[in-house]
Amino acid sequence: MSQSVPTSLPASVDLVVVGAGTAGAALAGAAAARGLSVLCLERGDLGAAGARWVNGVSDEAFIEAGVPLPTGEELLSEGGNFHLLAGWGPERIVIDRRGLYEVDMRLLVARLQARALEAGARLEGGVRVDGIEGRRVSTSAGPVEAEFIVDASGLSGARLLAQPKTPPSDICSAAQGVYALKDVAAAKAFLAEHEVGEDETLCFAAVEGGYSILNISLHGDELSILTGSIPADGHASGAKMIERFLAEHEWVGRRRFGGSRAIPLGRPHDLLAKGSVAVLGDSARQVFSAHGSGIGPGLVAARMLAEALAEGRGCEGYALDWMRSHGGVFAGYDSFRRFSQRLGVPELLYLMRTGLMDPDSAGAALVQRFPRPSPGRALSLAPAIAGSSRLRPRLISLGAGIVALTALYARYPEAGFKRDAWLRAVQRVHGGAA
Ligand SMILES: Cc1cc2nc3c(=O)[nH]c(=O)nc-3n(C[C@H](O)[C@H](O)[C@H](O)COP(=O)(O)OP(=O)(O)OC[C@H]3O[C@@H](n4cnc5c(N)ncnc54)[C@H](O)[C@@H]3O)c2cc1C
Repeated sequence: MSQSVPTSLPASVDLVVVGAGTAGAALAGAAAARGLSVLCLERGDLGAAGARWVNGVSDEAFIEAGVPLPTGEELLSEGGNFHLLAGWGPERIVIDRRGLYEVDMRLLVARLQARALEAGARLEGGVRVDGIEGRRVSTSAGPVEAEFIVDASGLSGARLLAQPKTPPSDICSAAQGVYALKDVAAAKAFLAEHEVGEDETLCFAAVEGGYSILNISLHGDELSILTGSIPADGHASGAKMIERFLAEHEWVGRRRFGGSRAIPLGRPHDLLAKGSVAVLGDSARQVFSAHGSGIGPGLVAARMLAEALAEGRGCEGYALDWMRSHGGVFAGYDSFRRFSQRLGVPELLYLMRTGLMDPDSAGAALVQRFPRPSPGRALSLAPAIAGSSRLRPRLISLGAGIVALTALYARYPEAGFKRDAWLRAVQRVHGGAA
């Protein structure tokens, strides 16, 4: 006996999107705007979907994704110097963050959802997707048939394509909060003590192992605190780092909003699409691993996926486009993340003092690009690489690995036996299955 379809959900659509966070809502809008009938299902309330804190997103990502730049209350700040300190300082490099937007994600998610509705997509909150069988999607509100199904349900979501699980050593625990201040003068004094002004970012790096950060920035009478670390390496979680900072600085008042969650690191999943199913955003591990940023990548990938579907190239067309254009940068920077994950403050100081890490290279990483040093500049780094017997072999192998990964991803093959050879080559350079 066939199960009846609840009147609230359509019997069939062109595209079911699972999850209405940034990646899912952006895809729903981009696909509906290109003429597809779209049903986007969110297990929680639509008003609570996706990231609920403040994230840094580059203007380039918005432009490449075809999403208008944030303005008004959605935009907390833009630009301002980023002071990257080795440990608790004082040594630092100062990066010009022009083009990097601090965005209130609650308002960006709401804007993306509103754009999707306007474009004709249907969004339903409180409907969980439980699984798929062929083109049939099982949901808590009954089944739906779909030509295409996209899993944009995040790290711990529906897992519609059987992907290898992200191991704990590749999980970043992050937390972010916007706080009222009991004493604005004391906050200003704290920043001044670290030679940082208002609307600039003070970043204590490697305070909980090589991968950790504790960022502070003051905007008017509000303080933003962002933390991240890898607890599997024996370090305090992002939430714990904030708790400790608050206990030690009584001038910080109550939290206005924010949250904490796990971010998947590692190279993007090797399988972005299978038949009529694709993965997107955190569930595809389209996260810029060097600093755990998944908003821009999810927005850009959503635009590429909508285009591939509308142009009749299907989910596989999207996988080819994204892997060839972006996969190399993401896999390459994941190699850098692995390299830096277990460095301590002394090694970070070495990289800064010798110029191996400078405002240009760190600034390129902030906006998710490879640095492009002039040939003269690249040559001038040779003595710094040669100068550390401990880091030298790892730096050389890191550089060679990044070059190899960039070349491999640019030639990501169409599905078939060549894909197996490609995967073996990637695994030789970067490690096991992803
Ligand atoms: C504290 C913190 C700070 C961060 N800072 C930055 C930053 O500065 N810059 C940046 O770019 N990134 C940052 N990130 C990462 C960024 O927030 C994530 O990469 C991004 O939110 C991923 O978006 P997504 O749409 O792929 O997934 P999500 O935001 O996880 O959205 C997935 C949605 O799917 C829904 N869902 C799950 N399962 C189901 C199901 N079975 N059925 C229906 N719906 C389901 C969920 O409820 C959720 O709403 C940060 C993360 C954290 C935790």
